[in-house]
Amino acid sequence: MKTQNLQFDDICRLLEDDSAEELYALADGITRETKGDMVNVRAIIEFSNYCNRNCSYCGLNCHNTTLGRYRMTPEEIIATAIEASDAGYKTVVIQGGEDPWFTTDIYCHIIKEIKSKRDIAITLSAGEMREEDYSAIRKAGCDRYLLKHETTDENIYKKLHPGYNVEDRLNCLRVLKRLGFETGGGFMIGLPEQTIETIANDLLFIQSVPCDMAGIGPFIPHPETPLKEAGQGSTELTRRAVAIARILLPNINLPATTSLGVIDKDERNKVFSGGANVIMKKVTPEKYRELYEIYPVNHGKIKSIAEERAEINELLASIGKEWD
Ligand code: SAH
Repeated sequence: MKTQNLQFDDICRLLEDDSAEELYALADGITRETKGDMVNVRAIIEFSNYCNRNCSYCGLNCHNTTLGRYRMTPEEIIATAIEASDAGYKTVVIQGGEDPWFTTDIYCHIIKEIKSKRDIAITLSAGEMREEDYSAIRKAGCDRYLLKHETTDENIYKKLHPGYNVEDRLNCLRVLKRLGFETGGGFMIGLPEQTIETIANDLLFIQSVPCDMAGIGPFIPHPETPLKEAGQGSTELTRRAVAIARILLPNINLPATTSLGVIDKDERNKVFSGGANVIMKKVTPEKYRELYEIYPVNHGKIKSIAEERAEINELLASIGKEWD
């Protein structure tokens, strides 16, 4: 476990190593010690695709006028969370754009209602807020908050989010941690101008908070965004970054991210033997699913929440995992 002391230079070397089998084996060994064979399956409800922000990689950004916008009602969100709980999920992730229709009071109402009806962990993922808002949401019973920091590089962050500041975003994660949330950070692999050093800093930032969860996924270009011509992120580099995160933080929760699965399902499955212990499954009602287009996804045939949950369990069984 001395490996937790990996330094910046070690991390860069590991990220650049083309024969990473040893790295994956080490990460897998640590995952087995801390998590066993257990994979936590989380239900994600994509509650709104309205967004005030201008993130130049994201299909929901406010300048994308080609996207039909939707927002679920609080009642729909609560009903979907209950259906997910009844299908066996123990966590719901409630994620959306930064949609001002959803005030702190409304988020608190949704959280309290779900908590009063089911014994289920709630993760909110709704962007940057003031400390007092995060605090109110925490007091309403929200257990976790997911806010990927996206990149720690000040210049890259500025270019991708004109008018916004990386320090504000990083600070949100520190505030969330202080308020007692299980805190999820994370970043994309393959952003324009990103280097190995940038990724090493992203990993060290996750360790410094320290985050309880980190979503590390490849960037996928979206045709209606300024980054439509950019290349997609490397799945191999993504897997190495996940493995290093496991070594830096043996107990952290690491999803095999959805974007990795969108590029290549086999690559997504491989990451479960290289550090990952979480998977998120969409439970967003069918009529909204295609509209939550952060990046292009082929949804295939959409089934009921319970049927799709059963399919995830089967997938995990097929790769020798247990699930919760
Ligand atoms: N508004 C929320 C949720 C953002 S969307 C928030 O600010 O946290 C969830 C995540 O999808 C983002 O944090 C980002 O890391 C990822 N994402 C967005 N666009 C992407 C793209 N084109 N390729 C890969 N991941 C993307």
